Amino acid sequence: MARIETPKRVRGTQDIFGEEQRRFARVVEAFEHVRRLYCFQQVQVPVFEATGVFARSMGETSDVVSKEMYTFPDRGDDLLTLRPEFTAGICRAYITEGWQQYAPLKLTTHGPVFRYERPQKGRYRQFHQIDAEIIGAAEPAADVELLTLADQLLRELGISEGVTLQLNTLGDAETRDAWRAALIEHFQSHRADLSEDSLTRLEKNPLRILDSKDPRDRPAADSAPDIDAFLTAEARDFFDAVTGGLDAAGVAWTRNARLVRGLDYYRHTAFEFVTDRLGAQGTVLAGGRYDGLIGNLGGPETPGVGWAAGIERLGMLADAPEDEFPLVAIIPSNDDAEALANASAAELRRAGIATQTAFRGNLKKRMQRADAAKAWFALIVNADGLALKNLGTGEQEPITFEDLAERTGVRIIEESGRQQGYLSEDDDLPEGFDGE
Ligand code: ATP
Ligand code: MG
Repeated sequence: MARIETPKRVRGTQDIFGEEQRRFARVVEAFEHVRRLYCFQQVQVPVFEATGVFARSMGETSDVVSKEMYTFPDRGDDLLTLRPEFTAGICRAYITEGWQQYAPLKLTTHGPVFRYERPQKGRYRQFHQIDAEIIGAAEPAADVELLTLADQLLRELGISEGVTLQLNTLGDAETRDAWRAALIEHFQSHRADLSEDSLTRLEKNPLRILDSKDPRDRPAADSAPDIDAFLTAEARDFFDAVTGGLDAAGVAWTRNARLVRGLDYYRHTAFEFVTDRLGAQGTVLAGGRYDGLIGNLGGPETPGVGWAAGIERLGMLADAPEDEFPLVAIIPSNDDAEALANASAAELRRAGIATQTAFRGNLKKRMQRADAAKAWFALIVNADGLALKNLGTGEQEPITFEDLAERTGVRIIEESGRQQGYLSEDDDLPEGFDGE
């Protein structure tokens, strides 16, 4: 018989486990926490959409649409694309579901996104984003709130120190047209110095030359005119309101006049949170205002602003969370005690206490495993009774099954100093296990 070939993980995908998974979960939990504090609603949108949803909203000339999308005809010959980001799908849903009635709508979501890129550290083909959007608010206060939310998330993750908010304005339509004309004129006079990519950009998307990473483009990009001279009074007021709001909220920012979004419907605020700790993968969170997007998708003219961040990149920056450990390990002393051991475990868990079972091994083996798992207590189960042993102090005393959920449960939580029956961010390691 032919040998079965070992299956391979698809290039650019990840199997996330152990410390990596705890980092991942920490980011998602912190995001969920700030979502509640800022009173955003959660939303779920499909993993795939009709290709046109992304092509129209992200633009045919963008890197994502032109090179990175996973696009395929399904069995009914509809052309579908695995989402490379969330904003387009959320805006499509806003139109399809008639969510105008709820505007202004503050939404968050998270999950896998897909881009066909060259995999490297911090860059995958299936990665994960958290995403926050405010749809139906044209006020600069919406931009301020979204950025303050992002800033608080980074603080909760303990990484705001090494991460800088870079901010720019793209102005309103009038500003943008005038600036764009000036940029085309400037780059035309530097044609000879530009990279091939930027010569194409000059035709299709001249703003993008400004943030080109090709060193050949940098002199022309750096000497290009800033938007400031072209800002209308309205556009300047908007930007001042955003920066003033950030200052008032204590959110640090720096101006990056070279930060752009290529597409016409991006207006006013554009921003990135950047670190130098992840090499070339330095942008951890990026977004901006997209007032023309929903109209461009065929919906009613609706302002919007939002951002997305890579969960993996945030997780790499954050400190590794503690191992999770049980409060109680169940240790049956012999086979006859199995039934009572099962009943005790169920009772403790129903009382909200994280309880570990080992499935196999003699009493000594199971004790060793309880120690290794850093359980706070061992519940030693004999066929005719129970004993609770504090594994930190070694103290042991008999208890009754009837007392398990109530008295013993309360005592376990009190003695361990936990806020609840399982590990939480504020919990310290049990005494006797520190520094191991
Ligand atoms: P980059 O310049 O790194 O390619 P981008 O501009 O394509 O980023 P966005 O489309 O703004 O990124 O996506 C928002 C965030 O998603 C990024 O700031 C980053 O944290 C994360 N991200 C983007 N692409 C990847 C990827 N291939 N793997 C992991 N994370 C990614
Ligand atoms: Mg990219």
